[in-house]
Amino acid sequence: MRPRLVLLALSVGLAGGSTGAIAGAGLPGSALVAAVTATAAYLASLYALAPLRDVAAALRRIAAGDFAARVSGEGPSELAALHESLNRMASSLGSSMATAAQERSRFAAVLNSSVDAILAVDSESRVRFANAAAERLFDQVEGELVGKPFVWVLANQEIVNALQACQREGGSEERLVELAGRQYFQAIASPIAGGGDWSAVLVFHDLTEVQRAEHTRRDFVANVSHELRTPLASIKAVLETLQAGAGADPAIARDFTARAEAEVDRIVQLVEELLELSRVESGVPLAMAPVALAEVIGRAVDRLRPQAKALGVELVVNAEPLPPVSGDATRLERVVLNLVDNALKFTPAGGRVEVRAGAAAAVAWVEVRDTGPGIDPRDLPRVFERFFKADYSRQAAGSGLGLALVKHTIEAHGGAVSAESSPGRGSTFRFTLPPALRSGPAG
Ligand code: ADP
Repeated sequence: MRPRLVLLALSVGLAGGSTGAIAGAGLPGSALVAAVTATAAYLASLYALAPLRDVAAALRRIAAGDFAARVSGEGPSELAALHESLNRMASSLGSSMATAAQERSRFAAVLNSSVDAILAVDSESRVRFANAAAERLFDQVEGELVGKPFVWVLANQEIVNALQACQREGGSEERLVELAGRQYFQAIASPIAGGGDWSAVLVFHDLTEVQRAEHTRRDFVANVSHELRTPLASIKAVLETLQAGAGADPAIARDFTARAEAEVDRIVQLVEELLELSRVESGVPLAMAPVALAEVIGRAVDRLRPQAKALGVELVVNAEPLPPVSGDATRLERVVLNLVDNALKFTPAGGRVEVRAGAAAAVAWVEVRDTGPGIDPRDLPRVFERFFKADYSRQAAGSGLGLALVKHTIEAHGGAVSAESSPGRGSTFRFTLPPALRSGPAG
């Protein structure tokens, strides 16, 4: 080994010009040997360390995240063992890092696909993470949210208290809060034990729809009770009057009985609407047949002409030739009746209600326009909801079921309904019906 090293050292030295320099310095023989030996020893150490430089280079690449780095080469068995260990370490680090990255992206995908807004905060209540739903809820991207104190993101004392209590006491805290724009959320703050700089997580579960449904249900009970109480009270008053002796006069008796009958009709109508809505909603088969839509419109409008006259509202029909449709004529007539009845109900005397009909690409459309007060844009998306009544119409007749019935009936026919309105400029309700099936006879 040693002679080989010396030779190698000398040859390396010659190649580098160092021996020439020593000889040229005129050193005595023993000094020259010592110098050569030292040089040889130095070069030998360089030679011995060369494989370690490969190891160091591979380690540097691994530290920089390149887990594909490997060392190879020949050498003593200790070196080979080092190479093998390093290569194994690089490969297992590589697969651990790949698994960690995979888990991170799975975790992020799960959090981002949640419909609940999720925020993670650190021990100082600064945002550390925000999922996609949180970005939507707070109208900021994650980059803007991260690092901000939570209270800057949402200045809601209830939730801030819940977060503080959860961090102080180490247990989950839950609050029901109303945020801007009539949005209701269940906010849950939970501590994360061992979560590093994620000390707590906040979940915002949207309850707006649930609250709205609950609101509508309560409204419905109130409306139906109101709708029933009024005619029932009238009937009771009529009966009491008759019992008290008014029935002895045939003319008065007839008048009172007629009033009681009208009240009974109101109750029957309400109950019928409720039953019909539940039938259409539960998908009862329609009595489908070829329908002449113009005739259906004509019949409904004729039934309401006396009402329009009594109210002093002009009622006109403008229909283009209509394509054949198939449908349940009685139910379609009720749809038109409902729309025109509403238009008349909300249009002041002197106003105008126009029923228009036509076709576009074989799809029949019917529109009922009025010159009434119009509908607030906030109420407009809700008018087809069951039992919905806008504030201004609470005292008006009707339980808020008419338009829900219109919508469900038209949709059961494969058509669509829509409403356009702006306050003070009247309203337009429109429905479309698909063309009759080709095999069916035209109507
Ligand atoms: P209702 O039996 O109360 O008329 P509807 O379902 O037919 O129930 O209508 C729901 C609500 O929509 C009404 O109470 C009213 O607030 C509003 N609305 C419906 N049609 C009109 C219209 N033509 N003009 C103004 N508001 C209307």
